[in-house]
Amino acid sequence: MNPSTITDIYHVLSHTYLTFDETDDEWMTSGISSTPFKSLVSVALSTMTTSKRTIAACKALYTKVATFEDLRDIDEQTLVQCIKSVAHYNRKAKNLKLMAKQIIEKHHGQIPQTKEELLGLAGIGRKCADIMLNFVFEEPSIAVDTHVFRVVNRLGIVHTTTAEATADLLNQLTPNEYKRHAHEWLIQHGMKVCIARKPSCTHCPLTSYCQYFNTNE
Ligand code: SF4
Repeated sequence: MNPSTITDIYHVLSHTYLTFDETDDEWMTSGISSTPFKSLVSVALSTMTTSKRTIAACKALYTKVATFEDLRDIDEQTLVQCIKSVAHYNRKAKNLKLMAKQIIEKHHGQIPQTKEELLGLAGIGRKCADIMLNFVFEEPSIAVDTHVFRVVNRLGIVHTTTAEATADLLNQLTPNEYKRHAHEWLIQHGMKVCIARKPSCTHCPLTSYCQYFNTNE
């Protein structure tokens, strides 16, 4: 896709959607990302799980733990009981305890701030690492989830088959001025308009740029 078209798409998105901190999105208002510790644990719990279920697990967990030491030391069965609303809770409980141990022992209790080091933590994949970089460490890095993947492929910004390849390309193709909030706008577009089952193209401000729309019109 022509770079100027990509810029135009982001221009429209940025004038269509608010950023997360401008909304009353429950993820932002529930307090589950109010500290770097909570951000990392919450994002690790969120994979393959709805926001509602993630928030329930996080709220239960944060009544018991506030630091990586707490997380390392919490009884595993107690941890499992707290996070039972998320997918793969047994595996996530083991990973959280291991991740806490890694951060304490390898990183002096501080969350590492490079993508490579974040990816070395138990239970942290590419999307989680990009979210931490973008939202906690303010290093523009577009996280690709199922919504972002679908939207940018339908638009034709990328033609990819994996989230990782999409993230690599999207981070190359997105103008710097839009990188910081691109994930937030694209995810909202995917949830509200360009929905998985049937995109609501008649309500979409991007039809003139969209390869899917112009191919299936
Ligand atoms: S025109 Fe349709 S397919 Fe294209 S981005 Fe908009 S909603 Fe999605």
